[in-house]
Amino acid sequence: MRKLQIGIVGAGPAGLAAALYLKRANHDVTLFERFSSASPVGSGLILQPTGLTVLDDLGLFQAIQVLGNRIDRLYGADALSGRTVLDVRYSALKGGRHGIAVNRAALFDVLYDAVLRQGINIETNVDIVSLDVGAGSSWLITDTGRRIGAFDLVVDASGSKSKIRSFAYKSREPKPLTYGAYWVSLKWHPEGFDEHSLLQRYRKAGVMIGVLPIGKASADGPKTAAFFWSTKPEEEPKLRDAGIAHWKDRVFSLWPECSVYLDQIDSFDDMTLARYGHHTLPMPIGRHLSVIGDAAHSTSPQLGQGANMALLDARALAHALDTSTELTAALAQYASSRRMHVAGFQSLSRAFTPFYQSDSRVLPFIRDHVVPIVSRIPPTPQLLASMVSGTLIDPFGPIGLREKIWG
Ligand SMILES: Cc1cc2nc3c(=O)[nH]c(=O)nc-3n(C[C@H](O)[C@H](O)[C@H](O)COP(=O)(O)OP(=O)(O)OC[C@H]3O[C@@H](n4cnc5c(N)ncnc54)[C@H](O)[C@@H]3O)c2cc1C
Repeated sequence: MRKLQIGIVGAGPAGLAAALYLKRANHDVTLFERFSSASPVGSGLILQPTGLTVLDDLGLFQAIQVLGNRIDRLYGADALSGRTVLDVRYSALKGGRHGIAVNRAALFDVLYDAVLRQGINIETNVDIVSLDVGAGSSWLITDTGRRIGAFDLVVDASGSKSKIRSFAYKSREPKPLTYGAYWVSLKWHPEGFDEHSLLQRYRKAGVMIGVLPIGKASADGPKTAAFFWSTKPEEEPKLRDAGIAHWKDRVFSLWPECSVYLDQIDSFDDMTLARYGHHTLPMPIGRHLSVIGDAAHSTSPQLGQGANMALLDARALAHALDTSTELTAALAQYASSRRMHVAGFQSLSRAFTPFYQSDSRVLPFIRDHVVPIVSRIPPTPQLLASMVSGTLIDPFGPIGLREKIWG
């Protein structure tokens, strides 16, 4: 592939990883970001063996390992009975796989520092609202009408609210999900919690509380935990009217150990209300355009794959450009190399989310009474572990990557 002029829109995990890969492949890369600095939505996330393999490929695994926190198990119980509902251990699979939970700020800093070291051009405070697609190249159009270009390739990494994915050959907009969640990063307290597990408590599918130890935001910072409470965004005014004390009493009654976290929350404004949507682009490419990460496929974070899929997309695009001699063929290769994995995990996420976040009575009943029995019978523990790991459908082969060897 000849040297391309590439404009990347969005400095989230997808855009930053793509910038690193494409600059290292000797392309001319400029990154455009709407904000002047990172603005994390939610507080932390789990990097799965998939995303960790990409970060390792970029030479950033150790930096993440230092700041993040190893996760070996995802455990959930019914809040009233204490009965186990979900118990997924990475160790069900051979090879020493695990996850690493990270503070979003830490993930951003590790990728952003690498982008700066690589000498990649970054323009901040630039809101890209449209494209001008010509015969041989494309221009980015900002909210002030500025025309930036020309680019041989535009990479849309602007997240689930992308304004330019409509330029893909086949586009689609996210459908809002009924449930979202309040998220906040708090100081980590080990009492009653396990530092290497994501712990959750449920009551039917209307209540879900989670505590995820996510390591440090910065090298000299304290250990932190992500605390989340599932809620319907439309019910936010009702929740606020009832007052923060009322909400804290409710959480405490369901999971008393959480008092060490509730004590750190003074108002609803201390938390971020994340709204979720679901969409998958049937064709995440267009003329001089590739769409990656949440711009191409968004979902609820129930399976915890979004950032990992974004990193895989970045690697897939770079691999396709590297192994093709012509741009149109490379874009087609990018789309086809991710199709199965993205379609599979988006379907799984769509199917599983209502078991944990919905008004259904039947689905949580099945979850609480059938799944715990079935999930102990082989090969279900292995299947669940590879679903959480993101490897149930091979993501690596089609994008020319080998899974990291776990120590
Ligand atoms: C509460 C919550 C919890 C989650 N937990 C997990 C988890 O455990 N594991 C996991 O893998 N994933 C998780 N996810 C999903 C994960 O956060 C996303 O999949 C991931 O951030 C997608 O990365 P991205 O780079 O594609 O998009 P984003 O992270 O959304 O980044 C997009 C970037 O583009 C910029 N941008 C947007 N519009 C424009 C514009 N017009 N012009 C210029 N720049 C623009 C934005 O400012 C942003 O910097 C969670 C998500 C939420 C909301």
